[in-house]
Amino acid sequence: MSIPQTWGRGVRLRVARHELPLEVLALLHQRDGQGCAACTRLGLTPPFDEPLEVDHKRPLSLGGDNHWRNLQILCRFHNRSRGNRQLQGSRVPTWVARLALARRLAAHVVCCQQAGRIWAPSDPWLARQIEALLACEALS
Ligand SMILES: [Zn+2]
Repeated sequence: MSIPQTWGRGVRLRVARHELPLEVLALLHQRDGQGCAACTRLGLTPPFDEPLEVDHKRPLSLGGDNHWRNLQILCRFHNRSRGNRQLQGSRVPTWVARLALARRLAAHVVCCQQAGRIWAPSDPWLARQIEALLACEALS
């Protein structure tokens, strides 16, 4: 067995993402995609400034360990809403609000274009989301 395959087995210490060996991180990304595993499943792109955290599928407090099969990378929102279920539904991730803003701004961009003006937000993440939204609309 190679080191990344066995790393963390039986170890019950909290570990930060930057403390994971790169080989273990690579295994997680190979299985779950590059960013947050939950966002990837939902087809969402969290903004670049949403922190990524290590989640234990079976919590450390319930006997889970640091083996890669028990780990997944989640954005802070998905990690917090998993760890504290009472928060679910009552707390909207900041980036979902920003996505809603992107939708409104995308409509605004179209308005500007029709009026012969060019407008783009200075936030690069918002700009990317608006571009993606407009590309989707152009296809449909
Ligand atoms: Zn997420």
